[in-house]
Amino acid sequence: MERSGPGHRFDPTILREYDIRGVVGETLHEADAHAIGRSFAKVLGEADGKRIAIGRDGRLSSPALEAALIDGLTASGIDVVRVGLGPTPMLYFAVNTLPVDGGIMVTGSHNPASHNGFKLMLGKKSFFGADIQRLGRIAAEGLYPEGAGRVTDRPVLKEYVARLFQDYDGKRPLAIAWDAGNGATGEALVMLTAKLPGRHILMNQKIDGNFPAHHPDPTEPKNLKQLQDAVLKEKCDLGIAFDGDGDRIGVVDGKGRILWGDQFMIVLAGEIVARQPGATIIADVKASQTLFDEIARLGGKPLMWKTGHSLIKAKMAELKAPLAGEMSGHIFYADHYYGYDDAPYAAVRLLSILSRGGESLAQLRDRMPQVVNTPELRFPCADDRKFKVVEEVRRRLRDAKAEVVDVDGVRVKNADGWWLLRASNTQDVLVARVEGRDEAALGRLKAQLVAQLRASNIAPPAGF
Ligand SMILES: [Zn+2]
Repeated sequence: MERSGPGHRFDPTILREYDIRGVVGETLHEADAHAIGRSFAKVLGEADGKRIAIGRDGRLSSPALEAALIDGLTASGIDVVRVGLGPTPMLYFAVNTLPVDGGIMVTGSHNPASHNGFKLMLGKKSFFGADIQRLGRIAAEGLYPEGAGRVTDRPVLKEYVARLFQDYDGKRPLAIAWDAGNGATGEALVMLTAKLPGRHILMNQKIDGNFPAHHPDPTEPKNLKQLQDAVLKEKCDLGIAFDGDGDRIGVVDGKGRILWGDQFMIVLAGEIVARQPGATIIADVKASQTLFDEIARLGGKPLMWKTGHSLIKAKMAELKAPLAGEMSGHIFYADHYYGYDDAPYAAVRLLSILSRGGESLAQLRDRMPQVVNTPELRFPCADDRKFKVVEEVRRRLRDAKAEVVDVDGVRVKNADGWWLLRASNTQDVLVARVEGRDEAALGRLKAQLVAQLRASNIAPPAGF
């Protein structure tokens, strides 16, 4: 190892909790991609890693960032296996099936076209939190291993799609509208739907880094409008959307209604628990109480865990849970699969269940216990205040002997329902959600949350 030039400094905003992400040409440059390659090479070397898989999404800036990243890796002696253009779960698939010691996906996920970034894996695990911060220190020092790694092209798209289809187990053909949002899942979707039985209406399947149709983020209802319209017009059984890099799924039933992650998870969990009674099913703290109650009612063991895909994946591996999900649409299958968030795979499993069962998704939805809840509410709070506010609220609630789950922020439960307050790990915002058994209960719970925020001098979210 030798000093190879002066140290590199990243814009401090790009090294985030779960990934590296910035605005191309403003906070994120090719020189950063190169430094990430060299710094990650050092981490790989420490773990006796020699070879890494690299994938990229369809953003206009992805090829150049990928090339700079690969230059950095090979200059430090790491061999690179390029798996090609596709969704993030395709890169995860490559890392789980090829002889490699880690992986990096060049992707801006669901963010605007001007953004891009990297998701990293060391071995088969997410590389996140303090480990990402350490890349910044390694780059600042500029002490990198030297070498001459080789680059091989090893596209895995075909194998990935074949693996998705392998677990399709349906009976009755369905009609499905799909919206790839011009994201990186487009080509995989075309290939997958060619294999699946039934009628398929494909939208925005052309990979286009300008995202001409709409923002590729199915957690925003406005981005699901086109899908809802198509489901109704084409009389489909359901609609499925993917985010820009295919690790989050959006679902619409045959009546054009959106089902959030914590709703369709009830359907997914039911199938697993029927085969594996007592199985642990994980959902994040933002999820509806209905989901936890239904998992228990169906014979499973519900577990509430911290929000964040890297955190959920780690917990899932620790507990050997067959299924986990987040309200945001990250769905993780370890049952028959590898335990990472893969939206097309979740789609295949959902379609299998619906195609074998007698009830439509709309009927299943109508049978779910009815509650009233807010969406996820995000409101500004200074970075140095956000965790303290949650701590203050936690202390007051403890003194008041309230029933509180505190795995991630505070989630307060009482006879009316529950409310959640947590600090975002990725933005200077507080996150809240409230769910009541009826409108009156929801109002009382909101008032409790507002009183706690006021006691800490925080303005409540708009509309409260
Ligand atoms: Zn994503």
